[in-house]
Amino acid sequence: MRASDLSITDEKWRAIVENDKSYDGVFLYAVKTTKIFCRPSCKSRPPKRENIRLFTSAEQALAEHFRPCKRCKPTGQRLPDHDWIAGVAEYVDSNYMKDLTLHVLAEISHGSPYHLHRTFKRIMHVTPMEYIQRTRLKQAKKLLICSHQSVAEVGENVGLSNIPYFITLFKKNTGYTPLQYRQLESKATQKGGTQHGTSNE
Ligand SMILES: [Zn+2]
Repeated sequence: MRASDLSITDEKWRAIVENDKSYDGVFLYAVKTTKIFCRPSCKSRPPKRENIRLFTSAEQALAEHFRPCKRCKPTGQRLPDHDWIAGVAEYVDSNYMKDLTLHVLAEISHGSPYHLHRTFKRIMHVTPMEYIQRTRLKQAKKLLICSHQSVAEVGENVGLSNIPYFITLFKKNTGYTPLQYRQLESKATQKGGTQHGTSNE
């Protein structure tokens, strides 16, 4: 079972002793004497270093007959940061038409703008502002194809009421102006061909 045995470096040992939350999700530690495994952040009493085994996943620890700690619940599917960021993304998904900034999102999600920006990027691989833009453009494409709203109305309805900016942003992302995009799409639909550009988000 060597594959599941990570070595206990001083760094990891320190994370355990100091209940360092930032190591949650990086590894889990099990205590040979109690047969229980924990997240690094667990507030339970630090075990003896020689009694510890490290795992990268709860499945590995369970497979070796360790039991999850009742206190830190290391088998929980999502980590706190993931829950937090998922909440922020959901908020954007349903409020993209509003005036959203990093500061607004930080306030709503009870984090500092700096921490939100970094955590969002780490988990979603885009910044919050990039995610907002992406969501708006996705909705704009939908409206251009499925509605008869003018370009200005579409911009307004997706939170991009500065029309020149909306057109520039749209073109930068799709290669077409909103009008060109709509025309291309309606031609493609008439031909019954595949929808151009919709997979290119
Ligand atoms: Zn624990």
